[in-house]
Amino acid sequence: MSTQNPVFIPGPTNIPEEIRKACDIPTLDHRSPSFARMFKPAIAGVRRVLNMAEGEVILLPSTGTGGWEASVSNTLSAGDKILTARFGMFSHRWIDLCQRHGLDVQIIETPWGQGAPLAEIEAALRADSSHEIRAVLATHNETATGVKSDIAGIRRALEAAGHPALLFVDGVSSIGSMPFDMAGWGVDVAVAGSQKGFMLPAGLAILGVSPKALTAMEKATLPRTFFDFRDMLKSYATGGYPYTPAVGLIAGLAKAIEMLEDEGLDNVYARHHRLAEATRRAVAAWGMRPCAATPDLYSDTVTAVVVPDGRDGTELVQLAATKYGVAFGVGLGEVAGKVFRIGHLGMLTDVMLLSGLATAEMCMADLGWNVQLGSGVAAAQDYLRTSSVLELAAAA
Ligand SMILES: *Cc1c(COP(=O)(O)O)cnc(C)c1O
Repeated sequence: MSTQNPVFIPGPTNIPEEIRKACDIPTLDHRSPSFARMFKPAIAGVRRVLNMAEGEVILLPSTGTGGWEASVSNTLSAGDKILTARFGMFSHRWIDLCQRHGLDVQIIETPWGQGAPLAEIEAALRADSSHEIRAVLATHNETATGVKSDIAGIRRALEAAGHPALLFVDGVSSIGSMPFDMAGWGVDVAVAGSQKGFMLPAGLAILGVSPKALTAMEKATLPRTFFDFRDMLKSYATGGYPYTPAVGLIAGLAKAIEMLEDEGLDNVYARHHRLAEATRRAVAAWGMRPCAATPDLYSDTVTAVVVPDGRDGTELVQLAATKYGVAFGVGLGEVAGKVFRIGHLGMLTDVMLLSGLATAEMCMADLGWNVQLGSGVAAAQDYLRTSSVLELAAAA
């Protein structure tokens, strides 16, 4: 079956036609001035999306996972202690990566559906009076559970404890879709990927790196070559790259930033909030609830829907794919089968979202779940008819 149905997975996201075209360029010599002319605006744009006041943007031919690896391998040394919480598949995978790099990871086990536990983080930092903890890692938006964490709160915890640790934030499924404030939150390394909020194909790890992290880089001894920020920054100085860059993706990135800024970042964030809220109204009308424990934790980019007892979320996802050609996200790890995920980030309109909610309902009916066809769609329609992006952006 060949379809142009939108996807409702929390990445990769739907690629706007303009971005597809922007990526589709003839071969361009990356050592030529033409490349520098394309590359520099993309870098400058990323700075604005991350809200960076200082530091450097690094674009690696990789994915978010490579961004995680680059963040630690460039700034830390084997045996270094780091502090983080585990509350979903993505926070888990970053921990696993750190452990495989020989880092000493102090893990605060946190129930899935919760976010970064601020009080426990602060207590752990206070207890570390000799300042052995080199970095605190935080997953801004846990894509497995649809939970957002309070990064400003983690910065406050560091300040309250008077602790000098670096703050690394995984913003792969939030940056470009939810407010992100690298300068205001004092983030030392922010990690994004091209295929989520930036609406591009996968293939770029996008990082913001603070001056403090760049200082740590000089002393760090974990092995790195392909991801070495030092090589990257040396080449940047001449508008180039230490190796062949993903030129088409970088062209697309400049276009993506132009699109985000034409819409207005505040409006982009308000649009995501509005579509997320419409999704949550539908979920409530189905008699279900998000996996995120409380409204302050609700993600505006993905909703993990807890399915009724005795039902299997993965069955719904499989049926949607095979019968209707529509992609939802399965539950991962601890919540496998217990949730299915609706991604509502990137290029998405009211009309597209409603088609996804309607498809989910058809699947529920097909599987004999006790859900009234149209109930969730109607709840979303009611909300969408009466809410406006501009009003939400003004209120934010
Ligand atoms: C998607 C995602 C990743 C992994 O990114 P890849 O591009 O698949 O390597 C990491 N963290 C979060 C929060 C994600 O949503």
